[in-house]
Amino acid sequence: MSKLDDLFAFLSIPSISAQREHAADVENCADFLVSKLASLGFDASKHLTTIHPIVVAKSPSVEGKPTLLIYGHYDVMPVDPIELWESEPFTPEIRDGRIYARGASDDKGPIMALIHGVQEILAEDGQLPLNVTFLLEGEEERGSETLYEFIKDPAVQKMLDCDVIVVSDTGMADINTPTFSYGLKGLCCFEIKVSGPAMDLHSGLFGGAAPNPISALCEMIASTRDANNVVTIAGFYDGVMPIADWERQSWSRVPGMSDRELSALTGSRALRTEKGYTGAECVYARPTFELNGITGGYQGEGSKTVIPTHATAKISCRLVPGQDPQRVMNCARKHFEKVCPPSVTMEFFDGHTGEAYIIDPHTNYGKAAQRALENTFGTAPVLLREGGSIPIVAAISKTLGKDTIFLGLDLPDARIHSPNENMRVEIYEKGIELTKNLLRLMGEE
Ligand SMILES: [Zn+2]
Repeated sequence: MSKLDDLFAFLSIPSISAQREHAADVENCADFLVSKLASLGFDASKHLTTIHPIVVAKSPSVEGKPTLLIYGHYDVMPVDPIELWESEPFTPEIRDGRIYARGASDDKGPIMALIHGVQEILAEDGQLPLNVTFLLEGEEERGSETLYEFIKDPAVQKMLDCDVIVVSDTGMADINTPTFSYGLKGLCCFEIKVSGPAMDLHSGLFGGAAPNPISALCEMIASTRDANNVVTIAGFYDGVMPIADWERQSWSRVPGMSDRELSALTGSRALRTEKGYTGAECVYARPTFELNGITGGYQGEGSKTVIPTHATAKISCRLVPGQDPQRVMNCARKHFEKVCPPSVTMEFFDGHTGEAYIIDPHTNYGKAAQRALENTFGTAPVLLREGGSIPIVAAISKTLGKDTIFLGLDLPDARIHSPNENMRVEIYEKGIELTKNLLRLMGEE
């Protein structure tokens, strides 16, 4: 099938990993990939897990050449709110040069570009310039639970043995700016609950005397940062990798990432960055302490003069290389225990964690990937670290002991995870070109 037909067939399968009623679709999607890769001569198989299958496909062996492991995910996010889609999410449609469908950019478009790059090399040269293994999972959007287990098996590690790993599941600065990402942020999430009176109280009969848990929670949270927007939790910044001079220079040139542009992009009146750092530096390389939700008391119509029994906050920290997620979470817990007023009690709930990831972008494989980007797009790539987290990638990299290179094709307006997700046809075609350049240049290493 043509490169667009293949992509459309892939996008038509509603492989939503989070929703039980789509389990059969997720499995069909794995079967689709197995048969596509087998048709290219790959030894392709579907590995069943307790949740969704993992697809592994190995190219015929090319003696004396390195092995490239390509990781991607074939599952997609749910489509809600469906009414905001201008076309059916699983009936791909091209409008104004963009392919609209759930998964177009995250991550089916990039995966099919990689597969068709391989297919075109095979058609042109009869064989690949190096060994290629695909590792495609169906649970990325729900936490990659079974893949963490899968890679613990020594037989699997042997099957996935490689020289370098490539992932195309990250962002691209803009359509004219190829992007080489060499780091990801880590993450730790937690929740605190502050409890005061045993029952909701009348704010006139008891106000001014009884403790208010919402006020207590607000004071506790306010104590986590100072006027310079520096986090004041003891130990929070321990081990944080400093930003190198070349990184500051490189990041100051990333399109769309100046403080003025970031302010406009976020629809904010002004940025609020840690003192001494630009917005781009904070996004790429400074740890953050972010409130994701705060609740307590009466939220209904009109007023209700009440002192509530409790208040809660959901918090996540994005972490950088050098920080241990569990340790940061412990520091936060200690901080809140220390600042919790004696009139209320606090409970602290650990959430999930993931480690940050970074490689040296100037290795031979790193330089080969940068040349591949430059040859494809006609201009040198920007080098940056991702503000987001893909914890499974850090785990795969660490388990196999090999670097992961991120060649993102998601444009800022690709609407990933949102209604009207799309990928420009031009970027899909460039992704195929990039794959061919990448494989040929890496084959020379
Ligand atoms: Zn993705």
